[in-house]
Amino acid sequence: MIITDNIQEVRAARWRDAADWGFVPTMGYLHAGHLALVAEAKANNEHVAVSIYVNPTQFAPDEDLSTYPRDMERDLELLRAAGVDLVFTPSDEVMYPAGFQTSVLVKGVTQMLEGASRPTHFEGVTTVVTKLLNIVQPTRAYFGQKDAQQTIVVRRMVQDLNINSEIVIIPTMREADGLAMSSRNKYLDEQQRALAPVLRQSLLAAEKALNAGERDAIVIRALIYRMIAADPLPEIDYISVADPTTLAELDEIEDGALLSLAIFFGKTRLIDNLIWKNA
Ligand code: AMP
Repeated sequence: MIITDNIQEVRAARWRDAADWGFVPTMGYLHAGHLALVAEAKANNEHVAVSIYVNPTQFAPDEDLSTYPRDMERDLELLRAAGVDLVFTPSDEVMYPAGFQTSVLVKGVTQMLEGASRPTHFEGVTTVVTKLLNIVQPTRAYFGQKDAQQTIVVRRMVQDLNINSEIVIIPTMREADGLAMSSRNKYLDEQQRALAPVLRQSLLAAEKALNAGERDAIVIRALIYRMIAADPLPEIDYISVADPTTLAELDEIEDGALLSLAIFFGKTRLIDNLIWKNA
């Protein structure tokens, strides 16, 4: 497995021949969700590259950049065991050298939900993902449904900028109690961890109501709200029932609607989502 922080080395390995490469961008501290993306990349490409880079530009000054969990040695072991060919581990100097002054900005679909709560986040994401896709030039790049809005933003950007990689979305991997796996779960104390599955539970309750015929978005948002607010610990950032393409909030819920939420447990912000399929 090649491990490098050098862009030329990545390009040389990638273009040794014209084989298909799958690419999984990550911020490290890997869990089974990341490894599911790697497994899918492995299954559908001759070679797999993974990046590990905690991108400072997608964190706001008051967010958790300095405390974001890191364990490079363990990550590399997991990736070696998964049969990854190349790991790109750039420094900030490699990604943002002196004189750097370019940014990729996706407009409409970055404005609401995560974008409303974290106004500088997506510009950081789209800029770094563009750079990574340009560096690796993968045949396919893999993203998790856990970050639902990110998948929509990245798809939009790749289409708008004619980036020559296919975007593949992988379902959310969960703990046994339904909590979506996340590097940030590590921040939760015992009491918060015990309550955190309520995100998933509230989405499943909403799905049940939808399957039983409820279509009023106000009713569905209120149902989710009541379940989260039943305990004083979680603090609601947003609860959304939106069109899956435009992310505009819905009045009447239709097939394929994106139910999503962001909830604070202390300083830790957890997100989850569900796409409702009318059976
Ligand atoms: P991160 O390291 O958190 O930036 O995540 C890297 C990639 O893994 C992103 O495409 C995430 O959406 C994806 N990912 C994170 N958590 C999960 C999960 N629980 N299941 C599936 N994919 C995930």
